[in-house]
Amino acid sequence: MERLPLEKKVLSENDRLAAGLRARFREHGILCFNLISSPGSGKTSLLERTLESLPQNERVGILTGDIQTDNDARRLARFGFPVKQITTGGTCHLDARMIERGLEGWRLLDIDLLLIENVGNLVCPASYDLGEAAKIVVLSVTEGEDKPLKYPSIFFKAKLLVLNKVDLLPYVPFDIDAAEENARCIHPGMDIVRVSCTTGDGIQPWLAWLEQRRHLQLAARAESVVPERARAALR
Ligand code: MG
Ligand code: ZN
Repeated sequence: MERLPLEKKVLSENDRLAAGLRARFREHGILCFNLISSPGSGKTSLLERTLESLPQNERVGILTGDIQTDNDARRLARFGFPVKQITTGGTCHLDARMIERGLEGWRLLDIDLLLIENVGNLVCPASYDLGEAAKIVVLSVTEGEDKPLKYPSIFFKAKLLVLNKVDLLPYVPFDIDAAEENARCIHPGMDIVRVSCTTGDGIQPWLAWLEQRRHLQLAARAESVVPERARAALR
């Protein structure tokens, strides 16, 4: 009984900071995604594939969270884009304050796409808004296809499910159609892409999804600018 009010307070403070981040991202035209999965589902591998596929003039920034070590930041830094490790020192999720600090020293005007790799954990990262445009959940075929049913919150909140490691399907008892059904049972209409970071299968549809989100954001911005102009014309 004692814990609940404190947790509520922490989450509402986080929501306040996340709203501030979201406003800054909007102001600077940054599209931000928050990647969430269990440990070992392949978030870092997906980011590696993504960064190696993007043109060098793409203005991407990456914040990668882990409880300890900067191994992932070192893996991701070799693609030449700005990368920063957020080491939480025990905390099993990223929060909006950590993102604020992570962005210190970066010129937001120089970033169009901000990719956040959360700490490997399917539970509390679902509760902490980081100001992202969308959460993306990664599930690999070496896990259970019932994870959407066991961890409904993150599957409900994520816009996209990346089913990773599909090259291993012949060797594991994972029923990929059942996994998709479970995800859509929790989140009807959820976007899903099947990916192998080892073979590169599915990477193009994944990149196309990112690109489509970018167009949606630009369209939304254009829409919010036009009425302003229309109002100005009336003055
Ligand atoms: Mg990682
Ligand atoms: Zn946590």
